[in-house]
Amino acid sequence: MNPTTIPKILVSSRNPHKRHEIQAILENRFQVIGPEDIGFNEEVEESGATLEENARIKALAVADWGGPVLADDSGLEIEALGGGPGVHSARFAGSKSTDLQNIQKVLKMMEGISNRRAQFSTVLAYFDGQNLTTFKGSVSGTILLQPRGNDGFGYDPIFVADGHTKSFSELSPAKKNSLSHRKKALDAWLNFLDLYL
Ligand code: IMP
Repeated sequence: MNPTTIPKILVSSRNPHKRHEIQAILENRFQVIGPEDIGFNEEVEESGATLEENARIKALAVADWGGPVLADDSGLEIEALGGGPGVHSARFAGSKSTDLQNIQKVLKMMEGISNRRAQFSTVLAYFDGQNLTTFKGSVSGTILLQPRGNDGFGYDPIFVADGHTKSFSELSPAKKNSLSHRKKALDAWLNFLDLYL
């Protein structure tokens, strides 16, 4: 498709890894742009108690830009930690924590715990200019004892999806994007677009 005819969608996230993954999954169906492309430089406070609330907050923060908006709030939900870090995944080890510090905190809390079941979940909020609709995607797996791999972001080095032996960080980006929570939520949204538009 001619790049000028690809519809733009604003992904309300400052995380370049996340935007890159979303663009890769959407291929050339949409051209992903970010908040800085519309001159929006505010920090959106993710004050919701759930992934869905935060996805809604992020979508509505940029809803008046004049085109469609997608916002994704994601988290790692670990059974033995009562579903945590969940909505607190980004800042689990403190307000300015790095991915490595968050991983170290999870591994420390899970020392000696044999139940390593976990899931990654994404809630996508889609605002079409009038209505806001949400879509969920999850992928189940286990938490490793030690980080493995160099690709991806966040908790990817300690998560192995069911049916796989490599961590999300060891998988090729294309492979991760074919089975991730984000892919499932985006597929649900694309199916919705195909059904209703
Ligand atoms: P948010 O949706 O940007 O608020 O994401 C919250 C946090 O969840 C991120 O900072 C990561 O630590 C984690 N996270 C979200 N998606 C992924 C993923 O695909 N892989 C690994 N970690 C993720």
